[in-house]
Amino acid sequence: MDEPISSAERYPAKYWHWLNDGRIQCGLCPRDCKLHEGQRGACFVRGRLDDEMVLTTYGRSSGFCVDPIEKKPLNHFYPGSSVLSFGTAGCNLACKFCQNWDISKSRSFDKLADQASPEAIAQTAERLGCKSVAFTYNDPVIFAEYAMDVADACHERSIKTVAVTAGYIHAEPRRDFFAKMDAANVDLKAFTEEFYVKQTGSRLQPVLQTLKYLKHETQVWLELTTLLIPGLNDSTEELQALCEWVARELGVEVPIHFTAFHPDYKMTEISSTPVRTLIRARNIAHMAGLKYVYTGNVHNEEGDITFCPSCSVPLIERDWYEIAQYRLTSHGHCPDCDTAIVGRFGEYAETFGRRRIPVTIGG
Ligand code: SF4
Repeated sequence: MDEPISSAERYPAKYWHWLNDGRIQCGLCPRDCKLHEGQRGACFVRGRLDDEMVLTTYGRSSGFCVDPIEKKPLNHFYPGSSVLSFGTAGCNLACKFCQNWDISKSRSFDKLADQASPEAIAQTAERLGCKSVAFTYNDPVIFAEYAMDVADACHERSIKTVAVTAGYIHAEPRRDFFAKMDAANVDLKAFTEEFYVKQTGSRLQPVLQTLKYLKHETQVWLELTTLLIPGLNDSTEELQALCEWVARELGVEVPIHFTAFHPDYKMTEISSTPVRTLIRARNIAHMAGLKYVYTGNVHNEEGDITFCPSCSVPLIERDWYEIAQYRLTSHGHCPDCDTAIVGRFGEYAETFGRRRIPVTIGG
């Protein structure tokens, strides 16, 4: 049975409406939860209390860390910079292979150790010299009101904002939410409805709509990630279809990261993704014309490098999450052939390195 919602955790939620049968429908994500009084939605952190929708995790975090931006992963967004990262609890998807399940599937708020106001988060990011703040670990769609307020506080201090998300969100909140984001890494978890329905409890088409929206109707810097799970979403045919769709609908310059699965949560019977699968995926993406293709969660030197798409020289070399060599000009061009590399680049690469620093935030 659901844990009751206490009035101490209520924060008025946006995006909901009444139904004729007396229930309230949440309008934030395509799960379209329809709730009686006292019920929580599928994400667990939004629910109906005293005849309105409430968000129960506003101002409450599962912890803060300073990470390299490459870890989100974003390889074309201020390389080498540090990002203050946090999440809350719950998730609107139900991925059997969740790699952060202790946070996303948390049904008790003992995981939410840190209280943090938007202003305190922005101040901390500034004090620690972070270029950006990332909403990550669990999907920020479900704590949209909190993430948007944090984003406003960050922008007042010239701190950038990053959403790491599955992109499962309805059109109206999508417009509001991404208007506050400078960059997004969106999980494109597979390229079949069957995988999305069976393995994640969601659907593929709304995610594709979000990707097209981000690419064509916003200025948000976009990169994609696909976690390859042996036997479930790594066939050559599916990867070809995925890459060809990206090339056709989003363009060949959108960076994509193929990352390795490790057995976790409800998917412990499948073994880790071999490096050769990631290399095969990368080759397929190149064949489809994609220009910036990376591998992640494994050590694969070539898959860590940003190559010039015109003259093929290595431009940004990485050793795991650390910049090993940076050759872009101050304008973000290849120094050899002057091709412009897509992304958001400062005059120089920053040098945060591969550290991961836990941080406590007061207020
Ligand atoms: S955000 Fe949560 S409550 Fe709203 S529709 Fe999605 S899963 Fe349901």
